[in-house]
Amino acid sequence: MSTFWRHTLISLLTAALAVRTSATSSKSACAQLAASFPEYTTVSGSASYTTKIDSVWSQTCVEDAYCVFEPESSKDVSTAIGILRKTKTKFAVRSGGHMPNPGANSISHGVLISLSRLNTLELTANHEVVHIGPGLRWYDVYTWLADYKLTTAGGRFGPVGVGGLLLGGGINYYGSKVGWSANNVVNFEVVLADGSIVQANASSNTDLYWALKGGSQNFGIVTRYDMKTFAIQNVWGGTLAYPATSLDAYIHAVANFSSPDGGSADPLAAADPLLLMYPNTSQIQPAAVLLYNAAIENPAALKAFIDIPAVSDSAAVRTFTNFAVEQNSSSYWDRSSRRSFWATAVKATPEAVYLANTTFIQAAMEQVSDLSDLLTSITYQTITEDWLDAARASGGDAIDLDPADGAFLVLLISNTWTNADHDDRIVSFSENVIAEIESKARAANVYYPFVNLNDAGPSQAPFKTYGKGQSLRKLKTIRKKYDPSGVFQTLSPGGFKLGA
Ligand SMILES: Cc1cc2nc3c(=O)[nH]c(=O)nc-3n(C[C@H](O)[C@H](O)[C@H](O)COP(=O)(O)OP(=O)(O)OC[C@H]3O[C@@H](n4cnc5c(N)ncnc54)[C@H](O)[C@@H]3O)c2cc1C
Repeated sequence: MSTFWRHTLISLLTAALAVRTSATSSKSACAQLAASFPEYTTVSGSASYTTKIDSVWSQTCVEDAYCVFEPESSKDVSTAIGILRKTKTKFAVRSGGHMPNPGANSISHGVLISLSRLNTLELTANHEVVHIGPGLRWYDVYTWLADYKLTTAGGRFGPVGVGGLLLGGGINYYGSKVGWSANNVVNFEVVLADGSIVQANASSNTDLYWALKGGSQNFGIVTRYDMKTFAIQNVWGGTLAYPATSLDAYIHAVANFSSPDGGSADPLAAADPLLLMYPNTSQIQPAAVLLYNAAIENPAALKAFIDIPAVSDSAAVRTFTNFAVEQNSSSYWDRSSRRSFWATAVKATPEAVYLANTTFIQAAMEQVSDLSDLLTSITYQTITEDWLDAARASGGDAIDLDPADGAFLVLLISNTWTNADHDDRIVSFSENVIAEIESKARAANVYYPFVNLNDAGPSQAPFKTYGKGQSLRKLKTIRKKYDPSGVFQTLSPGGFKLGA
């Protein structure tokens, strides 16, 4: 037998053994979970199994787990971790299921831990802090808090999960005053790899507290987030969509808003502008979600967007809850499509905005105009110096960006399509767009070296960009302290990992 065939045979046998081992351990883990928690364990093939597996935003994350486990308390999570560790069973953790990267919240053959039953909503006696279960979505949180005339700095779109967003930092409507959403978490309740249930806050497990603010699923399973509340205001806000003919005015508005002396200098103003594009028909649609955190019609800070004649415009003075209900849109619930996110960042200068926009449109036309099922978009999310100051003032985080480096834009390339045969083409297109924007931005001295984890694609490395490269080593040391045997690195392979 030739060396080639001997190696091939050994690889095939090893792979077959690994599959059998993983099937055996999953079977054992699921049997133990079902024995301890018959009501919370759903095995592949049973009636509600498909609905539970399918409850993700992107079809790229639908994988056949051996069973789905839905704990009802942190104690249940602790028991499950013990079973998974002892049986060496692979698992994935899912909260809202909105991260579209394959394997981030799904697992083939292993155990899917779905946190949807961890849905605590409780105010402390003085109403300054709200306890939130990871299985909730921001819409649930905002509508419940509204009864107390309160809100918190969570995600901007209702259907997105609490669990994943807070562990990735979190872009919110109030960042210039309060930093990342994670900076508003005063305590994390976490189940560690050894099954212990700990609190991480400014006085207990302070290193873990720092690491969880951006460090994602590398340290344990968070079973409760305690977040600061603040009084709800009536706001001006809504979604504006513009005709394709307004592209120049729209890009001008994005550049104007994001500049340090532009609209974003007003901490009450937030804008989430995005350019939608169907490359196959060259159709483009500029749009923007705008919010002003006071009951002021047509606020000056957002004037550049407001002045563009819109084809549809829902902006009005209203309660924040009314605005949040609108942002609970069906497209953010829709589970029928394949999706992907990719991120980079540029300095907040008009030149960077024009450069990113032109590169995106050109790449889409040149590389994927034959894909009739593809809708792609680029979103411009402004992170101000005030935002980074507020993040540091709150005690800091693993993301640790320096306000002295100035304001920047988190650029999100988002893709929606249906044909799985197009997956690889869309990965290549996205990686190319990111690389082209970064290379041109570097040449123009407007590159900002940051990958926002919540918007990052599977081949991107957000942790390497934290703290100008200084956070990663500290994150790994903290990981080794709280998970010395690397359970969350090896048994739970999905999502963004710190590595050894
Ligand atoms: C329509 C849409 C709108 C969005 N808007 C915003 C926005 O306004 N601001 C923003 O910052 N981001 C936004 N995002 C990005 C979003 O923050 C990420 O997709 C985030 O991961 C979603 O969290 P989730 O709980 O829904 O995801 P999941 O896919 O369930 O989780 C994401 C990752 O976190 C891990 N994880 C989840 N919960 C826990 C837990 N309790 N303990 C340990 N690990 C856990 C999972 O294992 C997975 O790896 C948006 C995404 C979408 C699709």
